[in-house]
Amino acid sequence: MLLKNVIIKDTTHGYCLANISIGEGVIQDVLILQKEGVDYRKSDFYVTPGFVNSHLHPNQLLDRRMLDDLNITELLHGMHTEYKKTDEDRYAQALFVLMDAIKSGATTIYSVASNPYPVIRAFKTCKVKGAVTCFYNDQWEGYGLPPSISILNSIEEQFKEAFKEQTDKVRIHIGSASVESASNDLLILLNDLAIRFKSKVNIHISEGLEAVESCIKSRGISPVRLLAKLGVLSRNWNLVHAVSIDQEEIDLIAQAKASVIHCPVTNAKTGVGVAPIIELLRKNVTIGLGTDACSNNNTNNILNEAYFAILIQMSFQRNAKALSADSVIKWMTQNGHDIIGTKQKGEIVKGEPADLLLWSLKNNSFVPLAYGNFDSSLVYNAPDIKPHTVIIDGEVIVESYQFKHMSEKEIKEAANLCGEKIFKLI
Ligand SMILES: [Zn+2]
Repeated sequence: MLLKNVIIKDTTHGYCLANISIGEGVIQDVLILQKEGVDYRKSDFYVTPGFVNSHLHPNQLLDRRMLDDLNITELLHGMHTEYKKTDEDRYAQALFVLMDAIKSGATTIYSVASNPYPVIRAFKTCKVKGAVTCFYNDQWEGYGLPPSISILNSIEEQFKEAFKEQTDKVRIHIGSASVESASNDLLILLNDLAIRFKSKVNIHISEGLEAVESCIKSRGISPVRLLAKLGVLSRNWNLVHAVSIDQEEIDLIAQAKASVIHCPVTNAKTGVGVAPIIELLRKNVTIGLGTDACSNNNTNNILNEAYFAILIQMSFQRNAKALSADSVIKWMTQNGHDIIGTKQKGEIVKGEPADLLLWSLKNNSFVPLAYGNFDSSLVYNAPDIKPHTVIIDGEVIVESYQFKHMSEKEIKEAANLCGEKIFKLI
């Protein structure tokens, strides 16, 4: 495949006219045709690397619009309500959520699930790559209903079984819903299994003050300090949210080289506050970006998350220079791959997997075309823009804004049928 006369952003020369040749799933060559004075009218597309959505719950579609306007404790109670969903129901909703996420530009997705199998199956059907985290919980110290609970000594066997599903494209990670749902013994076990299986631990942490207070009440220490005290906090740990953390905890995360996955829309919608992203960046903590569950976002659109992330920080910091479009794009590319633990750079260079997004320069967001600065259009015009074409490992998955190898109509109908079933049970 040859992408001819496309615009790319070259790290040295800026926006250039180029040809990208793709073969065997990787970028075979990038030929720069023109570096300066490019007439953008000569090109149909601006091409970027595919994005990484670093936190997604494919199994939460059926809670969408049922859990609006709830604070975090009420929301978790609602999310933990178990309706009579079959694995086929879970697969149908996961397929829809992944399709929706891919159509917004996610070519790599880092997801979580208590029942990972329907999600892994949906990953493979959608031909998306990334990681599926198997969540195990052995207690519940939070408000209301618990997440699904396992007996501690059954978890290793469960993970070993799930790990058999790992492929080159879909990694299997381990984790727990939160510190509230994991005993100290389980936290140590998760760390041990991640090391033994060369995997990573993924956990929601300090999502709000109530989660922190609950941990202090039961264990006399805040969640991040607890991980450090147990001796498990390390670069293997991917911490989701980390909103209610103090400077000492930021230092602990930085020293351990753990990563933070930022989900600002969820944090705003559930009223838990704004994560201390600028302070984390000052300490060189790797930040990823995720849309979380569409029950608390409500979209699966990673570009929309970038838009909101940059705006909320500028507003919160009272500083229009608090973050740049480049920094949030880095979260969605290079950092996302680092967090999952692949060697992918998230760049358009020879030898990289051909995960590419083609943005039509006919979109209104790129007017005035002559100004260039297309990354600014992507981030600040996010509500008006989606990729025209999505390529994953050299295969065109979305073309002309539509899924190519699957019927979107059938995926939507299947998800709606599940919704009808749940609606009758409420
Ligand atoms: Zn989440």
